[in-house]
Amino acid sequence: MLVVGAGPAGASAAYFCARGGLNTILIEKNANIGDHTSVKIDSSPNINLDEIIRKYGLPVKNRVKISKWYAPSGKNFTLKSDSGEFYFKRGNHGDSYENIVSKMAIENGTKILTGINLIDVIEKENFEKVIVKSTTNELIIKPKLIVAADGGSSFFHKFVKKEDFKILAGYGISGYDFTSPDCSSIYLNSELLPGGYFYVVSCPNGLSSAGAVVDASKLKGDVKEYFKKFVESTDNLSELLEKKCVTSFRGFGYIFKMEKRFYKNLIFIGDAGGFMDPLLGYGMTPAILSSYLAYEVIKEGLEENMPVHSFVSEYDKKIKEYLNYDRYYQYREIFEQMENKDFEWLIDFANRLNKRIDLSRFIEGAFI
Ligand SMILES: Cc1cc2nc3c(=O)[nH]c(=O)nc-3n(C[C@H](O)[C@H](O)[C@H](O)COP(=O)(O)OP(=O)(O)OC[C@H]3O[C@@H](n4cnc5c(N)ncnc54)[C@H](O)[C@@H]3O)c2cc1C
Repeated sequence: MLVVGAGPAGASAAYFCARGGLNTILIEKNANIGDHTSVKIDSSPNINLDEIIRKYGLPVKNRVKISKWYAPSGKNFTLKSDSGEFYFKRGNHGDSYENIVSKMAIENGTKILTGINLIDVIEKENFEKVIVKSTTNELIIKPKLIVAADGGSSFFHKFVKKEDFKILAGYGISGYDFTSPDCSSIYLNSELLPGGYFYVVSCPNGLSSAGAVVDASKLKGDVKEYFKKFVESTDNLSELLEKKCVTSFRGFGYIFKMEKRFYKNLIFIGDAGGFMDPLLGYGMTPAILSSYLAYEVIKEGLEENMPVHSFVSEYDKKIKEYLNYDRYYQYREIFEQMENKDFEWLIDFANRLNKRIDLSRFIEGAFI
């Protein structure tokens, strides 16, 4: 098995596969794992994830069951959720998700090559050879199966049909406290954050991470300016952010549809498979879930000596069952039509309704 890219998806896939007894190589183009992203906390919803996290001892910094949703006026609705969301530390620190899971993959027998870039493939009935390059060497790997986990602009996209949907632009800052339990706050404002939102992952002693997300097609100027403007115009935020910030981060989330998530002896996982959620841009949950589903299908296929083509298509079927985003595209369509007065109404309505019924149950049902 050759896994390309040691982000959360690739590190997880390599770990699951090596632990399951498969001969696994993981290649990463950067010299250090996690260099491709900043140190920050990514929060991501618990959608069929807690069992995998528990069973495989995946490194979660926290699990939070409360989120606060703010209308532009500051009115808010507190959502108490049974399933909750997980906080994952990202980046090149030794205790980030990708670093810990890569170490777990090595302990289970994965060979990791860093500072290695995939430069070419030799394709016949399958991808027979993969040519990779370090600063000093060129190597040829002959994999039985390739798992593409090389992010939203994967080397392998040229082989498949891909329909671009949306790019989300993000800018944020991180503090130093990544562990204490607290809550996520999400601020909605269609004028200051078109097609996006502002979030704060807080903790009792300060800040974990905060960021602005904006639909890139609606951006006028730098997304950092949207972050600054939102902070300046919102009570309580500037004080919290000024004191605790230690790093900043920025980037784009690529949301696209793929006709199928396999090609020959190759399967796509994580952002490379277009698994970022089209509504809010969460990518960690689907990165881990898609890597797990890939592992299950590969292990079963190899154990039963099935031809590679039949089990990679099995992966696509499973993906459609577990990571079906049809509803999320519809939610996004509605979200984009909402104006500030609609957010005010929504938060008011949620609060009024919540006095009469347990609304969390319904909201969870709609998303999970
Ligand atoms: C600003 C921002 C904030 C975000 N916040 C959140 C959040 O709060 N919650 C959440 O759930 N998600 C969030 N996301 C999305 C989340 O970061 C991604 O969904 C997640 O990183 C996907 O993991 P991945 O392993 O699929 O891809 P990546 O993390 O992109 O990893 C890909 C890896 O492949 C390597 N690579 C690339 N090309 C090659 C090659 N040719 N050869 C070898 N290696 C290669 C890269 O160096 C990298 O290590 C955010 C994204 C951005 C941009």
